[in-house]
Amino acid sequence: MRSQAGSTDNRWSEPRDWGRAVAFDHAHLWHPYAPMGAPVWPVVAADGVRLTLADGRRLIDGMSSWWAAIHGYNHPILNQAVGEQLGRMAHVMFGGLTHGPAIDLGRRLVDLTPAPLEKVFLCDSGSVAVEVAIKMAIQYWQGCGRPGKHRLLTVRGGYHGDTFAAMSVCDPVTGMHRLFAGLIPEQVFAPRPACRFDGPWEPSAITEFAELIAAHAGELAAVILEPIAQGAGGMWFYHPQYLREVRALCATHDVLLIADEIATGFGRTGRFLACDHAQVTPDILCLGKALTGGYMTLAATLTTDRIATVIGHGEAGCLMHGPTFMANPLACAAAVASIDLLMAGDWQTRVGAIAGQLARELEPCRRLAAVADVRVLGAIGVVETRVALDSSVLMARFVDAGVWVRPFGRLVYVMPPYVISREDLSVLTAAITRVLADI
Ligand SMILES: *Cc1c(COP(=O)(O)O)cnc(C)c1O
Repeated sequence: MRSQAGSTDNRWSEPRDWGRAVAFDHAHLWHPYAPMGAPVWPVVAADGVRLTLADGRRLIDGMSSWWAAIHGYNHPILNQAVGEQLGRMAHVMFGGLTHGPAIDLGRRLVDLTPAPLEKVFLCDSGSVAVEVAIKMAIQYWQGCGRPGKHRLLTVRGGYHGDTFAAMSVCDPVTGMHRLFAGLIPEQVFAPRPACRFDGPWEPSAITEFAELIAAHAGELAAVILEPIAQGAGGMWFYHPQYLREVRALCATHDVLLIADEIATGFGRTGRFLACDHAQVTPDILCLGKALTGGYMTLAATLTTDRIATVIGHGEAGCLMHGPTFMANPLACAAAVASIDLLMAGDWQTRVGAIAGQLARELEPCRRLAAVADVRVLGAIGVVETRVALDSSVLMARFVDAGVWVRPFGRLVYVMPPYVISREDLSVLTAAITRVLADI
């Protein structure tokens, strides 16, 4: 099934002195949210659901490289799509020019998302997609002659990216707003949605949000949130009714709704979009992460014809954004191939099977002394511990157990590639259970 070039080809790694290479890394390279010199494991190849380390060990991947590699690594169809595009052109500016991969991707995104979302902005990363969404909302209200509507309302426990506007709507505690106080815009925060996804709905869960949106409506451009499943801010799954109430309140108070589906899009929660759990259509939608099947950095912000038209008639006459690598053809080609691959397969059944197996096999963790909660939604499994654990120590134990899991704080979680086999998923869940039993 897999292409010839790949898994066993260690050409580039063989001559390397990995001890010295990692020493250089420790001395010179920053890694995400990690101090310089934090432990890192060199990877020389990735294939299917396996990462091959420089020392030859092969790990079962539980992370999909942060929600992205839904089809697994080194996939022949995605390789071919990128290779063919590389033969035509790797990149060309999008200012004044266009190309097939962008048009093909735009058409798919318009077709696969709710009908009113038909204007597509292709940018380089999730954080930028969030910046673009916020800019769209602000420029929209400017175009409506209401420039005072420029703040955002969100819920605690969210994560929307690392750039300044995105940071301003991340959870104020885990997002460390204190560090940047005075430098990031101050937004309005409602409590984390209290009702669990699979628990009963309590109408009181929306009360504080309803009060805040009513009190601030005159200055709010938009509500932004991760629908149904909050990711890096807390791995929390909340009740679809909460989202329906938010949608209705936004309409009542003339506030736009931005759905950040960068982590949840493309089937991860069991529906194509997490919004589909509540039959809610946002005014602005952000996609990223799994958009290219984990091959390249690319994200998209979609909005309605009405919002785009108002922005176009505003003072600037256009949306004021345009990254150098906007709609990069290689990334667009990977995205088109990834979406076609997803839609041609039976992803609902795959994700449903992973959900059932995660729920069954992580359930025993609930009885462990260290564990406070276990929750599963779609192909996402979360074990919350009672106290924050040292993630470097845990990662090392997971590597010893033959799996790749990167916990943070009190959260040990997995969102494996959809192609993971039953046996490999069992190895993953058994490793989690064992490692957490031993701490
Ligand atoms: C990862 C993520 C982002 C940021 O995306 P980057 O590509 O890392 O900039 C934004 N929102 C959500 C919900 C995410 O999970």
